[in-house]
Amino acid sequence: MIKFLDLHKINERFRKETDDRIKQVLDSGWYLLGEQDKTFEKNFAAYCGAKHCIGCANGLEALSLIIKGYGFGTGDEIIVPANTYIASILAITQNGCTPVLVEPDITTYNINPDLIEEKITSKTKAIMVVHLYGQAVQMEKIWQIAKKHNLKIIEDSAQAHGAIYQNKKTGNLGDASGFSFYPGKNLGCLGDGGCVTTNDDELAFKIRAIANYGSDYKYHHIFKGVNSRLDEIQAAVLDVKLKYLDEDNKRRRQIAKYYRENIKNKEIILPDTYNEDSHVWHIFAIRTKNRDKLQKYLEKNEIQTNIHYPVPPHKQECYKEWSHLSFPITEQIHKEVLSLPMSPVLTDEEAEKVVEVINNG
Ligand SMILES: *Cc1c(COP(=O)(O)O)cnc(C)c1O
Repeated sequence: MIKFLDLHKINERFRKETDDRIKQVLDSGWYLLGEQDKTFEKNFAAYCGAKHCIGCANGLEALSLIIKGYGFGTGDEIIVPANTYIASILAITQNGCTPVLVEPDITTYNINPDLIEEKITSKTKAIMVVHLYGQAVQMEKIWQIAKKHNLKIIEDSAQAHGAIYQNKKTGNLGDASGFSFYPGKNLGCLGDGGCVTTNDDELAFKIRAIANYGSDYKYHHIFKGVNSRLDEIQAAVLDVKLKYLDEDNKRRRQIAKYYRENIKNKEIILPDTYNEDSHVWHIFAIRTKNRDKLQKYLEKNEIQTNIHYPVPPHKQECYKEWSHLSFPITEQIHKEVLSLPMSPVLTDEEAEKVVEVINNG
């Protein structure tokens, strides 16, 4: 069986180093907001080219903390792609804000910059860009729109650690960026984890306080905060794995290149990228009219696949107030996408077998 993602194999590669660092945590007797957090935050901020990194509980919290940090709430609108993972939308509605959904570009699967401006109203506060499947959004036009209308740009970078646009990494392409370190992400820990990166000193101060019960120092509460912290064990593991992130992304690019050059099946549309560096291939999503049939065929041939995602947010039961809305491109994507096995530990032989089975299908 070719696994969609072999997390055990991914993490075994660093076992000695992570064992040592986890031991350091246990020996120290300090489990939250300690030296490991500090070290990782410093290293991840430097990696992204951002001034600040604030560890937090998970990716959803990272996005939610940014919205809280800016003080956005009831009545405020945030523009967001209609085909994103539910977390981007939940972060907005959790804070009482209104998501304004925008269709993606069918070739990049990222928000279509040409459709943003018509959605801006007097209530719009921010544009949330999502670097979906690992490809950095082409930011140029979005930077111009944000500047012209005085809007913040929030990045959802949960799928795109290390992706580059115009020599800058995700995490440094907007005003603030939320990352997830969920085990399956390109940089993943051994449980839940996340962080915010930003160059904004005031926002960084606020988010750090809000994430820790709204306190700037112990038992002194300046905000009605939340409890959203990155624990020392996860920070230690992330600090080890960060050193190998670029290498891992390079391997993902190799596999993507191999798939793109060798999958030859007229019924399949392969994912496109505008630039090699822009994509870290968190997900390799192909499209086909016969998605379910292809998935079953691959399963029969011992190849695991996944669907990112089967149902768009506006068709989810939790958002039934939007069920009348129509986003044809988003809906088409959700009907047609299928994610092939993709990970830094996928072997050449496994990638070859995937191609062979698809081409014979
Ligand atoms: C994974 C993910 C999140 C949420 O991250 P968690 O750590 O699971 O909360 C947010 N946005 C996108 C696009 C994601 O893929």
